[in-house]
Amino acid sequence: MKQILKIIGICAATLVVAVIVLGLVFFAGLQKAGSGPSLGAGLEPVQDGMSTVYLLDAGNGQLVLVDAGNDVKGTAIQAALANRHATADNVAAILITHAHPDHDATIPLFPKAAIYALKREVPLADGSESFQGPVLRLFGAHNTHPFHVSRPLEDGEKFTIGNLDVTAFAVPGHTPGSAAYLVSGVLFMGDSAQITSKQQLIGPNGLFSNDTSEGAASLKHLDQELQPRAAEIKFLSTAHTGNIAGLEPLNQFASATR
Ligand SMILES: [Zn+2]
Repeated sequence: MKQILKIIGICAATLVVAVIVLGLVFFAGLQKAGSGPSLGAGLEPVQDGMSTVYLLDAGNGQLVLVDAGNDVKGTAIQAALANRHATADNVAAILITHAHPDHDATIPLFPKAAIYALKREVPLADGSESFQGPVLRLFGAHNTHPFHVSRPLEDGEKFTIGNLDVTAFAVPGHTPGSAAYLVSGVLFMGDSAQITSKQQLIGPNGLFSNDTSEGAASLKHLDQELQPRAAEIKFLSTAHTGNIAGLEPLNQFASATR
């Protein structure tokens, strides 16, 4: 019995080390989380462990979160709310880029918030469909924080929350229903793109994504869709590799892989 436990222990330790090494390899050469240019007034980054969530001011005491972070207690988000003399009840909406567990952990803390995500992401959100990314499959294939999407969205759908105009874009690849949201001149891309330490935009991380070639094709398609609105896009924002100025990095990605 002892022998078996020892073998299981060694296997588990080897697995953890292998994932850490792979993670280091995959995250090497990437811009650090939360770095890059700041997005401006009313668009506050909150570093929640390895994920960056954004707190947006929608006017009249209403706040909007872009993604809901990694920490089920929501310590960093609660502190950011307290700084503004706000509470969880001020959070009117959460824009979910995708239903991975490092993006949806605090949803139960905001019972008054409308939860937006693309329609295609609903089965991942409620846990009825499994994740396909290699590492996520290793650790359990279903969403550990299942949640209800109260506002399922179509690709290209436009809506307003308070004084914010939002457009949702489908960028499948990282997950089947990954979304990017254009709000106040910022394109929030979640994990559908990454920024390198040389300030280049690249596609989604292979360790955690369903299909990286679909992800790259989605970014090219998104670049085309955004050309008519190029002048309004001031920043591209990612959940783990910070921000970058302008639409140009996405244009460059699209032309390099054409
Ligand atoms: Zn993800």
